[in-house]
Amino acid sequence: AGGLRTFLVGGNWKCNLSKDAITSLCKELAAAPDLETDKVEVVLAPPTPYLDHTRSVLRQDFEVAAQNIWVGGPGAYTGETAAEMIKDVGCTWVILGHSERRNLLQIRESDDFIAQKTKTALSHGLKVMFCIGETLEEREEGRTLDVCVRQLHALAETIGADDWKDVVIAYEPVWAIGTGKIATPDQVEEVHEKIRHYLAGDVNDKVAQETRILYGGSVSPGNCNELAQLPDVDGFLVGGASLKASFLEVIESFK
Ligand code: PGA
Repeated sequence: AGGLRTFLVGGNWKCNLSKDAITSLCKELAAAPDLETDKVEVVLAPPTPYLDHTRSVLRQDFEVAAQNIWVGGPGAYTGETAAEMIKDVGCTWVILGHSERRNLLQIRESDDFIAQKTKTALSHGLKVMFCIGETLEEREEGRTLDVCVRQLHALAETIGADDWKDVVIAYEPVWAIGTGKIATPDQVEEVHEKIRHYLAGDVNDKVAQETRILYGGSVSPGNCNELAQLPDVDGFLVGGASLKASFLEVIESFK
């Protein structure tokens, strides 16, 4: 983690938990009053029906993210959720480009669609966790960086240099998500360092130095401390391990 970048830990609950389970988990997370939330930002992303409830029961020093938004405004878009609605219930972030939305056959969001959604979110004052990452096949073909750069370039073409202050990149190798197979510290640092180098060239130096790059993929209390020490790791996006109170240990890894 770098000195000028505040550590950030996101919890992506995906399509999990119930209203009661969220109430209990939020109570457990509140039982750590000494957490130094001036030194680590914490953002939790519940399923859409629970955004409002989560915001009302979650400790005030944690923020709430949606897991997706509609690309346009409110209107005749059955089943979608507009940025305005996310804001209206007190959420400040949205996760976009998660591999489960890029790669699930029934969804298949494109680079361009994700970039357009990011632009929409930013224009409404939402901050964005922008997820990128290669599949196992792409890594084995030596295309890891090409894929990450392609996904980021779609965004760099769509938003202005000033917009990056509200964007956090989450590097999540698809083969490490939900598999228990964690990328090695060397693999993580190599990609994060190259992403920063890419940002310096395609956007500018300031954005490269200031943009936080999170790692995601099977992060847990057991492996977070080593990864948190890497110079270009500025936090985590956590799936499975964010569903339990021991998520607090991942948050504490910023120390
Ligand atoms: P995981 O998910 O921690 O369960 O691997 C990470 C993510 O998909 O953001």
